[in-house]
Amino acid sequence: MTDGCLFCKILAGDVPADVVYENDHVLAFKDIYPKAPFHVLIIPKKHIATLNDLEDANTELAGRLFTAAKSIAAEQGFADDGYRMMMNCGEGGGQIIFHLHLHLMAGKTFKA
Ligand code: 5GP
Ligand code: ZN
Repeated sequence: MTDGCLFCKILAGDVPADVVYENDHVLAFKDIYPKAPFHVLIIPKKHIATLNDLEDANTELAGRLFTAAKSIAAEQGFADDGYRMMMNCGEGGGQIIFHLHLHLMAGKTFKA
């Protein structure tokens, strides 16, 4: 739990979220301002602020964000049609919440 971090508060249950997936390592919940018909954020349960802060020791955890995304896409019926994943890093990259998260968006056809 990192003070002032919104996603750590969601992990602690102090801020409500519409959770769609959880395991020992990651939590996924619906984005409050969805940019696609289905839009979830997949976060590690360990606080890592940005991709710049990812260390070699976190390689397995980073991979778990992707395997969670794959599982959620399959569970929600988007595996065959396809989906988009995105990660913003730092203010210039459009990151507004400084707890690592992978966006998973689906339910529409994205332009290349
Ligand atoms: P970023 O721009 O940091 O990559 O993405 C942060 C995302 O968090 C945004 O898409 C934004 O809509 C979402 N978000 C911001 N505040 C909340 C909140 O309180 N709850 C949820 N579920 N999502 C949030
Ligand atoms: Zn955090």
